[in-house]
Amino acid sequence: TESKDESPRLKKQTRLGLEAKKEENLADWYSQVITKGEMIEYYDVSGCYILRPWAFAIWKNIKKFFDAKITDMGVKECYFPMFVSKAALEKEKDHIADFAPEVAWVTKSGESDLAEPIAVRPTSETVMYPAYSKWIQSYRDLPIRLNQWNNVVRWEFKHPQPFIRTREFLWQEGHTAFATSKEAQEEVYEILELYKQIYTDLLAIPVVKGRKTEKEKFPGGDFTTTVEAFISASGRGIQGATSHFLGQNFSKMFDIIFENPETQEKEYVYQNSWGISTRTIGVMVMVHADNQGIVLPPRVAYTQVIIVPCGITATTSNTDRKTLIDSCKELEKQLQACNIRIDGDYRDNYSPGWKYNHWELKGVPIRIELGPKDLKAQQFVAVRRDNFEKLTISRSKASTDIPELLEKIHQNMLTKATKDLTDHLKTTKNWKEFTSFLDSKYIIMAPFCGDILCEEKIKTDSAREETDEAVQGPAMGAKSLCIPFEQPAEIQESDKCIHPECNNKPKFYTLFGRSY
Ligand code: AMP
Repeated sequence: TESKDESPRLKKQTRLGLEAKKEENLADWYSQVITKGEMIEYYDVSGCYILRPWAFAIWKNIKKFFDAKITDMGVKECYFPMFVSKAALEKEKDHIADFAPEVAWVTKSGESDLAEPIAVRPTSETVMYPAYSKWIQSYRDLPIRLNQWNNVVRWEFKHPQPFIRTREFLWQEGHTAFATSKEAQEEVYEILELYKQIYTDLLAIPVVKGRKTEKEKFPGGDFTTTVEAFISASGRGIQGATSHFLGQNFSKMFDIIFENPETQEKEYVYQNSWGISTRTIGVMVMVHADNQGIVLPPRVAYTQVIIVPCGITATTSNTDRKTLIDSCKELEKQLQACNIRIDGDYRDNYSPGWKYNHWELKGVPIRIELGPKDLKAQQFVAVRRDNFEKLTISRSKASTDIPELLEKIHQNMLTKATKDLTDHLKTTKNWKEFTSFLDSKYIIMAPFCGDILCEEKIKTDSAREETDEAVQGPAMGAKSLCIPFEQPAEIQESDKCIHPECNNKPKFYTLFGRSY
């Protein structure tokens, strides 16, 4: 029933490509992008997903960047067990109160019940700190700065979404202990800056740096700093990564004490913990991918450039075919020598058109098309994935032009995403405006008192009453995303807290929005 005049390229496209549109059905679109783009395979345990090499490569690049930076800072790598005893897990009351509903327990081995159930780590504060208590005696044992790249399990009830909210996820968790609050706090911001760089410099995504409110901070910590990203397709904010100053709360619970050389007194250490997870990959897809598929930021892409030989027909002689392929491979070598991650698609059972769609779907930043005519003219055609622009590049300039083009693509993606964020960020002091902005998919800065109960009221009262399951997401109330370090204005004497019934003085502008 297909019409006769449909081009072969279009025909393949309907079979290969995405059926759902980002602007029409975000959930279906997301699921199709990550499965057809070969990042994720679904799995028969809800909330768990298979990370395929195309996705894992991004994680590896993030890891490579971050690991080098923290190693330079003096952080050492280690590994602690994934299991935690009930007694250790329940030592810090606020901490366990918050995590308890999501903790997975091992209760059996084979058919027999365990004498005492054992928890799977939702995070490793309670796993690691009993050992810290043994290792730290004197100021000479400080600081301790350890990091592990591992998995954690949080049996979330919220709707799971690959990368974004999963029941098992990969992350790094850094856990450090210092003699002074000052040193610890300096590290908190140093790490947060690296998290920001992962988003902006690797993933081409802008973030807002700030502090979490009392309601949203890490349970058991003194304060939490965060980088928040924005997904304009859903109008929702998302916590990108967090760096916590734990103060002395955990050291008091776990008896992590050192002797201060000046006072000879026993003191509790100051601690931090910080983590970034595979959620990064989901944010990257949500922000950059389009109706053609994934758009990979060049600095994390497994393949930055794909060469597709074209112009080979049934009448092309074997010699001409070989000459063309050899020339493609030569170009591959030349660009590899400039540290470009490049591959050639020489499969003879797919047409160039099919290959174009395939690599567009997978999001490779640059496609190089090379045919017999290009060969004669000593040139090739480069097609950008971010904006589909076609450029003819002379062979002699490949080594300079392609690296430059990759940089341009990164900058363009970051610029576009930054504009998207600023265009959807509003500041207001008016509650009516606040809720109407929220319903129009904006995130909003507003004066806020910082009170937990007031924040709960903001959330309840900004939710639209919506009984329809399908629209419940967009109808949810506003949560605080962060108190941005960069405030839009100073709080004035005459300012009031954004909630109309609140009589507290506002303390700071806070960024609110629907969130993941
Ligand atoms: P937290 O220990 O709660 O501060 O989490 C550290 C980081 O892990 C957060 O900033 C999130 O980006 C990420 N994260 C938290 N929960 C999940 C989840 N269920 N799936 C994926 N990433 C998560």
